[in-house]
Amino acid sequence: MATRRIFLQQTGLIASSLAFSPLTIAQSPKKDRLGVALVGLGYYSTDLIAPALQLTKNCYLAGIVTGTPSKAETWAKKYNIPEKNVYNYQNFDKIADNPDIDVVYVILPPSMHREYVIRAAKAGKHVWVEKPMAMTEKECQDMINACKQNKRSLAVGYRLQHEPNTQEYIKFLRDGKIGKIKMVSCSAGYNDNRTTHWKQKKEMGGGVMYDMGVYVLQGARLATGEEPISVTAQQYTTRPEIYKNGLDETTMAQLVFPSGARAAVQTSFGINMNFLHVTGEKGFLKMEPYSAYNGQTGEASGGVKIKHPYDVPRQQAMQMDDDADAIMNNKPLIAPGEEGLRDIRIVEAIYRAAKSGQSVKLT
Ligand code: NAD
Repeated sequence: MATRRIFLQQTGLIASSLAFSPLTIAQSPKKDRLGVALVGLGYYSTDLIAPALQLTKNCYLAGIVTGTPSKAETWAKKYNIPEKNVYNYQNFDKIADNPDIDVVYVILPPSMHREYVIRAAKAGKHVWVEKPMAMTEKECQDMINACKQNKRSLAVGYRLQHEPNTQEYIKFLRDGKIGKIKMVSCSAGYNDNRTTHWKQKKEMGGGVMYDMGVYVLQGARLATGEEPISVTAQQYTTRPEIYKNGLDETTMAQLVFPSGARAAVQTSFGINMNFLHVTGEKGFLKMEPYSAYNGQTGEASGGVKIKHPYDVPRQQAMQMDDDADAIMNNKPLIAPGEEGLRDIRIVEAIYRAAKSGQSVKLT
């Protein structure tokens, strides 16, 4: 864990780790492991995060927040969660009085992230929040401010930044192994056949650019090590009865970086795709799959192969162990709130660019 963090800082891959000094966290009595409460017990909590918390060394599943009493009962039984650590959305703020809970992990639809992150920070808890961090840059900033004001840390669930294949390709690029980066192409998409899920509701934070789009922005930003200065974008749908009024099924965007590097990114709820391709002055790097829960595989110029295998949900366990370690030992987070904000700022610019047909500046 420590090695992964040092590696990211040394290589300067995670701009956020460099740009923001560690928070001085008001520490409770030192613990060996942090108690985590999950807010929202949907797919990601059920299938990935709760199982991953059974693998972590630095944290454990201590509590749940749910609006569904039957889920509360099932989870409490399955994970041996005491009744005093089970909350609903109304009494959630009482979590402030519960010393078992150190971290609140918000795994709700994006439109609800701001409210629950701020309530958790005000309750004096450290906060982890799923991607996309929120719907607007302003919401992200409000969440960052609330955590700073309450001297709590705020991490975004960017699981890839914690996994060894991603860390290796970033180091490879940062070490200049293929020279100056000229072009990045990154795609992430899957067939989502749902029609009434929050991902198909604009007001809940739906739309593919928010959902899978943050992965391709991460690909472009981490590969170049830069922040884009302008974007152009196009959107289209094959299911206009579902994807309408600004809700996107497929988005393509082109990013310009200060060095002159360019990125073409594609994301879709109608196309299965998952790769990162980086072209430098002296060679190439390719990761495919790129953003999966495991199985990331890479190849690059010079016969380089990247493949660190692990089982699902080890990736999420690495993420939470890193973030708990950062809190317990007052280290910089690998993906703090500021990192989530950077992507949402670009997401908003991409929607504006697609709507106007014009290039949108980000400086
Ligand atoms: P989901 O729809 O399966 O679960 C959402 C949960 O929120 C449910 O328990 C639902 O009951 C609860 N909820 C409370 N109020 C709600 C409301 N008004 N409308 C809808 N749901 C409400 O969603 P999910 O796939 O678990 O996604 C949750 C978050 O996790 C999102 O931010 C998503 O982007 C993120 N996620 C991240 C990854 C990853 O790889 N990092 C993967 C999947 C999901």
